[in-house]
Amino acid sequence: MPKRRKVIAGNWKMNFTPSETVEFLKDNKAEFDTSAVDVVLCVPYVSLQPALDVLEGSNIKVGAQNIHYMDAGAYTAEISAPMLKDMGVPYAIIGHSERREKFGETDLTVNLRTINVLKHGIVPIVCVGETLKQRGQERTSEILLKQLPMALDGLTATQVANLVIAYEPIWAIGTGVVASTEQAEEACKIIRECIAQKYDKKTAEAVRILYGGSVDATNAKELFAQENIDGGLVGGASMKPSFKDVIKAGAGCCGCE
Ligand code: PEP
Repeated sequence: MPKRRKVIAGNWKMNFTPSETVEFLKDNKAEFDTSAVDVVLCVPYVSLQPALDVLEGSNIKVGAQNIHYMDAGAYTAEISAPMLKDMGVPYAIIGHSERREKFGETDLTVNLRTINVLKHGIVPIVCVGETLKQRGQERTSEILLKQLPMALDGLTATQVANLVIAYEPIWAIGTGVVASTEQAEEACKIIRECIAQKYDKKTAEAVRILYGGSVDATNAKELFAQENIDGGLVGGASMKPSFKDVIKAGAGCCGCE
């Protein structure tokens, strides 16, 4: 079975102005640029075009942090897949826990958004993960096995094989508390097995599953070396020059170091 290509995705959340984005990318583009893994930087909407301009000619891809599920219409302040497609944005995060917790995102809207971005040829990075309370109640598997099939409802095996899933335990996001490698691997394995069951083994072996939650240069190598972890969704550490070491950790796991 061919090894899955690693994805190292950054989520900048609501950080960096467009000018700061340009400055940061100009300073770090050469260090972040590699053909060994897929590097994706998900920046605020207003910084998409500046980022696309600075990164033109590099291997670094730009992503959005959300996307609406309708193509157009009376949805004030929303951004659609055709708009992002027209700009040349190839990735979008869907269902980040901050969207679910603070902006009323549900499993249904995550599914609608996923279906719509795929329709327009944008790769969704679909986020799932449990809260601290749910982990404490040993409900991680139950939560993943509820969120995932709902997010993927109606998708074909080919669509699923080509998307990206991010396992993001909510208690590890932005907290500095990283899941243990065992916890992260176990959850990513549950996700892969769920896909094998819902689709087939080939699809499960193809889909890329990331771990997200306080990944940084110190823990990335061990996490990315796990059998079912195909890279990371990285928040805080993706806005620092040392993100290059997270990228290198991904490349190293592919035998490219
Ligand atoms: C995230 O924003 O998805 C994330 C995982 O953040 P952090 O790496 O800062 O925990």
